[in-house]
Amino acid sequence: MKSWPCFCGNCVFAASLVLAWIAAKSRPADEYLSGIVWPEPPIVNPGDAQKPPSDAIVLFDGTDLSAFEGGNWKVENGYAEVRGGGIKTKQGFGSCQLHLEFATPAEVVGKGQGRGNSGVFLMERYELQILDSYENKTYFDGQCGAIYKQSPPTVNASRKPGEWQTYDIIFEAPQFDGEGKLVKPAYITVLHNGVVIHNHFALQGGTFFDQPPHYTAHPDKLPIYIQDHGNPVRFRNIWIRENIGPIVGTKPK
Ligand code: MG
Repeated sequence: MKSWPCFCGNCVFAASLVLAWIAAKSRPADEYLSGIVWPEPPIVNPGDAQKPPSDAIVLFDGTDLSAFEGGNWKVENGYAEVRGGGIKTKQGFGSCQLHLEFATPAEVVGKGQGRGNSGVFLMERYELQILDSYENKTYFDGQCGAIYKQSPPTVNASRKPGEWQTYDIIFEAPQFDGEGKLVKPAYITVLHNGVVIHNHFALQGGTFFDQPPHYTAHPDKLPIYIQDHGNPVRFRNIWIRENIGPIVGTKPK
């Protein structure tokens, strides 16, 4: 029987293997460096629940609708109420982050599509439905949070009639080539009252009531349109950010 510690050749060899393995495990891994030089991400004050981030374009702060044209909406008490036609932004937007708050009428009138109907149209043609969908059934791809006639929301996160609700939208504009052929569809991610209801959904084209969705080439930037569907839906705190990335770095040769 061998005594311990044993310094025979086999034991010394085995011990050296163990020590080499321990040394390899304890050595820090070589750091991966991409070689890309990134610009410093701009500092943005994210604001709080009521205030927009510091780099947002405020479209409606509760006082006036001067960023919009059309309609004859009533502005009072920090909100705007639908009447007299839809409104659209004077400025055009493409890819963006859009925040808005809405409340369907506290007094419930009508049913289905006739109850608290409005809608926010990105680029004047891609509608995210606004509807009172609190205990109010309609066709699923037309309920609140639907990409109209293309996809229902993943879940129904609606609040009660009259309560303020939020939409936080991340929209990637579609891209067309020089011949007007679609090369990249529009994508949309939506949080309704903080709940994800669309996660990078690829739009099949414009959202129509009477036609299947399809794309028609259009400019890179177009107004945001908010619909008058005959119901006095209220809006407040509407802002938009255009810098949604990706951030671009350079790789020196
Ligand atoms: Mg609508």
